[in-house]
Amino acid sequence: MTGPDTISAGKVVALHYTLRDDAGVLIDGSAGSEPLFYLHGAENLVPGLEKALTGHKAGDKLSVTVLPKDGYGLREGPGPQSVPRDAFPEDAELEEGMPFSVENDEGEEIELWITSVGEEEILVDVNHPLAGVTLCFDVEVVSIRNATPEEQQHGHPHEGDLGHDHD
Ligand code: ZN
Repeated sequence: MTGPDTISAGKVVALHYTLRDDAGVLIDGSAGSEPLFYLHGAENLVPGLEKALTGHKAGDKLSVTVLPKDGYGLREGPGPQSVPRDAFPEDAELEEGMPFSVENDEGEEIELWITSVGEEEILVDVNHPLAGVTLCFDVEVVSIRNATPEEQQHGHPHEGDLGHDHD
């Protein structure tokens, strides 16, 4: 179902959400803080959640289970690899779970995530920290509005946390 007040491509949507894994362990959520703002249809959310939200209205509450293939992907590759600490800029603040991108030999940019930080070596992995995890969302739709032309062009809302990222 679509209509002026339902979630569809080109809407900026505010959500409160709780994210747990399939064992019920809390991973993330917006409780006690500002809702999450995202632009529908712009891949701001994992595909399984974005799809489930389509057609919903403000005030709707839904529980969505997203399998890894519709979330952060299946785990792939050989597992974490060791990189010397001095391969990173000295002043970089490295933290577990932090993404960064590198160029491979073909000049393609690939995204890696830090899985552990030691004094002399850093472990990095090609998998998003939530790859392979079944995501269980409890979501409440707070508000829906039309995106501005600028937001549509940038592919994100200029409101909430996603709007602060402009590099
Ligand atoms: Zn922007």
